[in-house]
Amino acid sequence: MTPTSRSRPSWQREPCPAWCVVEHDESDLPDDRVHDSAGRSTPAVLGGPLEDEQAATELLILMSRRSGDAVDWVFVGEPERDGHGLSLSRESALHVAHEILRLASGED
Ligand SMILES: [Zn+2]
Repeated sequence: MTPTSRSRPSWQREPCPAWCVVEHDESDLPDDRVHDSAGRSTPAVLGGPLEDEQAATELLILMSRRSGDAVDWVFVGEPERDGHGLSLSRESALHVAHEILRLASGED
């Protein structure tokens, strides 16, 4: 054991991914048995060409994986507002980010 090792609760079969910042506990309920990254927030303006108003907000970006699963999920959105967010598989998030960069930078 190194000083940075964390002891795992009995329900956790696999080690945490390197990006997980959660202190898992033996008493965690099944729905709470999720690996989460540190959240990153970025200011953003929400709206659209047909919207009369723009809204300044903070978007949260977070990666998660249910304990025991193999799929990582990237959340982008406003967690305080139900329905204001996207959860994308890690692979999908990379494709979407790539296409947004191409489009927003005027590549084509
Ligand atoms: Zn974890």
